[in-house]
Parts: sequence; structure tokens; C-alpha cells
Amino acid sequence: MDCIFCKIAAGEIPSKLIYEDELCLAFHDISPMAKVHALVIPKAHHDSLQKAADDPALLGHLLRVCAIVAETLGLADGYRVVTNVGENGGQTVAHLHFHVLGGEKLSEKLA
Ligand code: 5GP
Ligand code: ZN
Repeated sequence: MDCIFCKIAAGEIPSKLIYEDELCLAFHDISPMAKVHALVIPKAHHDSLQKAADDPALLGHLLRVCAIVAETLGLADGYRVVTNVGENGGQTVAHLHFHVLGGEKLSEKLA
């Protein structure tokens, strides 16, 4: 499958890695929307949150890793976790990912 995040998970495309375990990895977004902008992705391909909704153990693990990443990156003053789903949700990479945004006061608007 021609999926950029599968290629990152396979090490075929380099990324600035923050965290890795058997199920997922976290790396810095190539085009940050905040002073700190990380992505947490499962190693296995799921198109989106909607397609992974039948795997709550995986989703719980990914959220736990978001919190670990926030701790690792020093986001003690707060941060935001976002996942975009589908075209109307603004999803541009069709491989489930959570954005972890912080390092500054974020807009009160969600998007
Ligand atoms: P989406 O718009 O699907 O919610 O988020 C996709 C994110 O992936 C964007 O924030 C974009 O900057 C990031 N991104 C796209 N391609 C790459 C890449 O090759 N490397 C990294 N590190 N981030 C990427
Ligand atoms: Zn993929």
C-alpha cells in the first residue's frame, strides 16, 4: 500500500522519532502547527479512527502514548490531542494518527 505513514513505520522514510514500542511510534510533524507538534501512529495500517473503532485496546494504547509523548516533550503546562477523520475532518494522510500539540498557549478554537 502506498501509505506515507506505513513507510515511516517501516523505516523507509526517515522521521524525527520520539517514542516507539511494538504497536506504535511517535515522531515530530514535518510541518508543525504549534511550537511542539508530534504525531502518534499505530504501526498497523488503519485508515482512520472510524476504521479502528473496533479496537479499543489499540486506541487506549495510542492515547496513553500521547500522554507519554507530552511528558517526554515537557508539555506540563498543557497540550491538545486531535485526530482528523475523513475529508470534512481535514484528514490528509489516511493512516490513523493523533496530533499532540503544545509548547505554547493554543487557540481556544478547536480548529
Ligand atoms: P492530517 O491532516 O491527516 O490530520 O495530518 C497529517 C499530518 O502529517 C500533517 O500535520 C502533516 O504535516 C504530517 N505529515 C505529512 N507527511 C509527513 C511526513 O512525511 N513526515 C512527517 N513527519 N509528517 C508528515
Ligand atoms: Zn498506512
